[in-house]
Amino acid sequence: MITKKEMQYAFVIDKEGKKLSPTPVDNAWYLIRKDKAELIEQYPMVIRLNKTLPQRKVDDNPIVLGIDDGAHKVGIALVQRCKTKNKVLFKGVIDLRQDVSKKMDERRGYRRYRRSHKRYREKRFDNRGSSKRKGRIPPSIYQKKEAILRVVKRLNKYVRIDKIIIEDVAIDIRALTEGYKPYKWQYQKSNRLDENLRRATFMRDDYTCQMCGKNFAKLEAHHIVPLRDSGSNSIYNLITLCCDCHEKVTGNESEYKEKFLNIIEGRELDLKPAMHVMQGKSYLRSELKKIANLEITDGGTTANKRIDYGISKSHTDDAICITGLLPVDTVDVKEVTIKPIRTKKKNRIEELEGFQHRDIIRYTKRDGTKYEGYITALRIKNNKYNSKVCNFRSFSEKTYRGYGFRNLTLINRPKGLMFI
Ligand SMILES: [Zn+2]
Repeated sequence: MITKKEMQYAFVIDKEGKKLSPTPVDNAWYLIRKDKAELIEQYPMVIRLNKTLPQRKVDDNPIVLGIDDGAHKVGIALVQRCKTKNKVLFKGVIDLRQDVSKKMDERRGYRRYRRSHKRYREKRFDNRGSSKRKGRIPPSIYQKKEAILRVVKRLNKYVRIDKIIIEDVAIDIRALTEGYKPYKWQYQKSNRLDENLRRATFMRDDYTCQMCGKNFAKLEAHHIVPLRDSGSNSIYNLITLCCDCHEKVTGNESEYKEKFLNIIEGRELDLKPAMHVMQGKSYLRSELKKIANLEITDGGTTANKRIDYGISKSHTDDAICITGLLPVDTVDVKEVTIKPIRTKKKNRIEELEGFQHRDIIRYTKRDGTKYEGYITALRIKNNKYNSKVCNFRSFSEKTYRGYGFRNLTLINRPKGLMFI
């Protein structure tokens, strides 16, 4: 399926721990084979050279980190400015946890239950100091920003980050509700639809073509009543179509008008994800500033760059565009999925047969099919053999329960963050 080999870089530090420029993975393995370096970590790959490099020999071409903040997924990319063509050193998607607010509700329930069953204790009230604190960020959002910071700090351990660039809000909610006002850049390129409206349309239609149902295709926003027939530039006149369907419809707009209007009638844009991104914004910014120089760019600029350089729309590619270091030699760099893991405070069983909680494993079925995932539970069965088993969750989020260890291989033991 994959014809071209994706590029992948390993992070490099020297004997003293100086952060050097990353090197292609193949080269890193070569250095290890030649005993010139040792493997520190494999996911992400980090090697340490056996010698110290003098400061003057350290490559100081600036490395920029771009962050495309989202409510569900966050794209990040490290791009290095080079004399000839800029290099994408790393790209990844942080798969944010979505279960926090549910878990908070559960906890509230447990606490309430316990409180109300302690009859000997007097009732207390007005004791919610922390949730009334000024500038407080709700845990579900705080956790999302914290996950981004964890990733950035982790990367910064192995690679120099000279500048961080983050996109301002993905969606300008005000511009949608208070009427359309074009951004500055649109005056120059007036044939382009406002990126804000485009994104809002996709969001409302759940990133799915409203004609064929595809959601992995290149999506476009279609004007139900064309602008030339004085259709409006508003979300009520836009619908999400894939490029194939869009082509079919173009020229026959009137034929599809009724159908499309019916589809989107009464469909409201769920603003919650956009608000989540907004809410933790200043906290994230102030924390990022402590790591490196921070610069802010707006969504329109990113979209324009992406279109100019013909780069597809994905979270990581957006992050590459956000760094502003275009053109790059290739965007075909392995996309790493990063999952923040919830730390388990107390495990009844710490280790079983050499496996621990959250270990990344490969399970080989008898017919040879392989699943990769991570261990979610370890236990000893209460049967006559006292069989030792585990539960694991595959990366496609399916849970497997009660599996023995014989067909499991340990791939990696992540420290707080999973790099897959
Ligand atoms: Zn379609």
